[in-house]
Amino acid sequence: MLKCEICGRQADKHHIVYRSQGGIDFPLNFKYLCHEHHRGKEGPHKNRKLDLQYKLELQKRLEMLLRKDFYILDELVDLLNINKGMLKRIFKEYKLYKEGYKKSDIIYRLMGKKVYTQYMLDEYCDFIANF
Ligand SMILES: [Zn+2]
Ligand SMILES: [Zn+2]
Repeated sequence: MLKCEICGRQADKHHIVYRSQGGIDFPLNFKYLCHEHHRGKEGPHKNRKLDLQYKLELQKRLEMLLRKDFYILDELVDLLNINKGMLKRIFKEYKLYKEGYKKSDIIYRLMGKKVYTQYMLDEYCDFIANF
């Protein structure tokens, strides 16, 4: 049984970058959450701040994991445990340099073609505080 990362109850698989946002299936993009911590008031689908926070965490993890400037697909398959066919498909539109794909392109694509910043989170909190 999969356990909620927050409370330990039975969990569902949440995609940190939703599939509808271009998120793909790979372990780092999964978070195991019980119904409450997933779909409830305190879950990322209802709580935008938490959603942003999870996304920022994922982006930071990717930045830490990918230490080189370029990667070839096989390295990404090993490092991120992503299906190679899937990688090929999603990186088709990015430039393949002779050293491989650019780290910044890889992270950008895995984050659903977005760059998340701490600023977005702070800004969001200010917005809520002033509401
Ligand atoms: Zn929970
Ligand atoms: Zn979800």
